[in-house]
Amino acid sequence: MPAPLSTGTHEQPYALLDRPLQFIQGVGPKRAELLLRLLLENIRDLLYFFPIAHKDRASVTPIARLRPGAEQNVRAQIVDVWGKRTQGGKEFVCAMLQDESSTIEAMWWNPYLLKRLSPMAWAFFSGKVAAKKSGGVGLQYQSPEFEMLTVGSADKDTGGEASPQSPSFGRIVPIYSLRPKIRRADGSEAPEVSLTQAFLRKLTWSALEAGAARLLPDELPAEIVVRRKLLPLFEAVRMYHFPTSMEQVECARRRLAYEELFALSLGVALRRAHVEALEAARKLSLAPAIQARIDARLPFKLTAAQARSFREIAADMGGTRPMNRLLQGDVGSGKTAVALSAMLLAVAHGAQTALLAPTEVLAEQHLHTFTQLLTGSRVKVGLLRGGVEKSERTRFLKELADGAIHIAIGTHALLEPDVHFKNMALVVIDEQHKFGVEQRRILRGKGPSPHVLVMTATPIPRSLSLTLYGDLDISSIDSLPPGRGEITTRWMKEHDRPKVYKLILKEARVGHATYIVLPRIESGDIPSATREDATAPSSKKRPLQKLWSEVKGVEEEVKRLREQLPTLRIESLHGRMKAEQKESILRLMREGQLDVLVSTQVIEVGIDMPNATLMVIENAERFGLSSLHQLRGRVGRSALDSYCLFFAQAAHDEAKERLQAFASTRDGFQIAETDFRLRGPGKFFGTEQSGLPELVVADLPRDQRLLMDARDDAIALVRSDPTLKAPQHATLHRRIKEKLVQTGRLGLIDVG
Ligand code: ADP
Ligand code: MG
Repeated sequence: MPAPLSTGTHEQPYALLDRPLQFIQGVGPKRAELLLRLLLENIRDLLYFFPIAHKDRASVTPIARLRPGAEQNVRAQIVDVWGKRTQGGKEFVCAMLQDESSTIEAMWWNPYLLKRLSPMAWAFFSGKVAAKKSGGVGLQYQSPEFEMLTVGSADKDTGGEASPQSPSFGRIVPIYSLRPKIRRADGSEAPEVSLTQAFLRKLTWSALEAGAARLLPDELPAEIVVRRKLLPLFEAVRMYHFPTSMEQVECARRRLAYEELFALSLGVALRRAHVEALEAARKLSLAPAIQARIDARLPFKLTAAQARSFREIAADMGGTRPMNRLLQGDVGSGKTAVALSAMLLAVAHGAQTALLAPTEVLAEQHLHTFTQLLTGSRVKVGLLRGGVEKSERTRFLKELADGAIHIAIGTHALLEPDVHFKNMALVVIDEQHKFGVEQRRILRGKGPSPHVLVMTATPIPRSLSLTLYGDLDISSIDSLPPGRGEITTRWMKEHDRPKVYKLILKEARVGHATYIVLPRIESGDIPSATREDATAPSSKKRPLQKLWSEVKGVEEEVKRLREQLPTLRIESLHGRMKAEQKESILRLMREGQLDVLVSTQVIEVGIDMPNATLMVIENAERFGLSSLHQLRGRVGRSALDSYCLFFAQAAHDEAKERLQAFASTRDGFQIAETDFRLRGPGKFFGTEQSGLPELVVADLPRDQRLLMDARDDAIALVRSDPTLKAPQHATLHRRIKEKLVQTGRLGLIDVG
């Protein structure tokens, strides 16, 4: 056990927190290396390395009352120890333990313990008790953890009192995660680090004994700690590692969770304050004449919900504070028309506007829709395709820079540093959940304080909208355009396939199209042009070869279907195809010259083909709930009744629950709530792009109430001290800056 870490008087107050673990007695270079894998470098890291669970080892059970099954603790004397071998030659160690009530045998597969288990010593044991495996009757302790309380035969003091100072016994003990958080290069989880719980406990214990927790700077303003009845930081840290009751665990957790949520909320509040403090935006007010011109361009009347959203947007754009608004509306609710209205409003003022889409296919579609609606007008729409000839790109960039293009559509290609606008005043980001805060920032930087409108079909559970989108105003399109047909969703079994083929034929006969979607997994190595195949439920990276074979999966399915359904016109679409190929396939579909489109998830977002009435999803268990909902949103886009049929091998309960939830509702909000509950906030948004920092102690759905408090406090604090300059916020200021540097998001917030 490492000696308590003394703080010599010559040391600076923070030296203890910064002390490398390697130089602590009992660690050494080898263990330091293992600790580093858990990102534990110094004492401060250790204190913030919180347990993932606690075990109650406070009470001991008399040996006579031990029962097989559960983990139990005893305090006993080792009356005998001996080594043995199995018939196969495997060594093990046995000990006979005795207390006032009875005796029990214990066994370990570790022959080295023979030396540590000194006969006649008292010790604490904790572990599972089971019926003896071989030879004999009765119970046996199997590989219990133990801690020596006395040194053995030489020591006649058999008091056997568990030392109250023990970090592993006679108390509630912490359990730490020994799994490194960093995934390996191939995306798999790293194996557990070979340190013991006992070792980590001792290390943390001695750091606490040395008073390290008291040195941690408490970043929460004292006023908040008092008002919210939170524990002081040092107490919470100590209690969370080594509580004396389960109530203490919750008390400590509450304080630490609050701190995380407060930091998160503060980031959002600062971001908002930052946007509000931006230079004045260009005023783009909506005169009745402009409204009339916009209306004339749309092929339908906006629904009440669309019109209300557009009014909110126009009101923002008519002011000098840059708009920062989220337009949310379920799949097919008609966000594009609202966005186009906003873009036309900007163009009416002679300004340029940019529309960012996550996939080329969607960008193409926007180009097509807009071009069609704007035929005969002077508004020029341009699309920046990825991977095009240099000359085409150069021409586009020139037209953009000299203002000839009014509406610039593009994928990530629009974010490149050499893309310059002449006078861009409005940024629209479609399917915002596929992008991150960073992309929003880059695009925003391409105009002088442009207005920003982001759109998403993924309704955000309330707890998340407060954090993730807390810096945005929100408009909601809460109803679908009128006259939409029904969508019947069904989980199909293998033997239903002939029925599905029949339905495809039936729909084709009346001129309706079918999508068939097969899962595909992103590889990080592929060029951005193929990013659109991303967002499988697991973001694990796959080797390139695997990717190819999965693309071939789509091709094989096309071949198979062409044999099965020889009279139909069947084509495929996936992210590895050239832009022109994709475009021509979509054109065929749009013109009604295609009966079946076999595709990857590339069509998940945005694609709008009103004559598609049948969606067939293969291996649905491999798609996330939100993706499934998006895929289903590709049909039911007209008055025609539609079907969404899926095949799945539901391997585990979570998948089953997900698929059942999917089949049972078409309500995007309900879907999102379920998805969030099933997968948790991290995976809900999938990638690092979400901008959601990892919460270690806080648990978003559960800590919603706490989040609201933290958010209120953060907003109030930023209102009173927008740049955190006040002396009582100095620690907080430093901490926020550190965090932003760590996560590389410094550009987002302006805190001096
Ligand atoms: P999403 O919100 O999923 O982006 P879209 O903007 O693609 O939805 O619109 C879905 C479909 O609804 C499109 O075919 C569009 O033309 C149609 N649509 C949108 N608004 C209306 C409306 N007010 N009346 C009738 N059809 C509409
Ligand atoms: Mg859309």
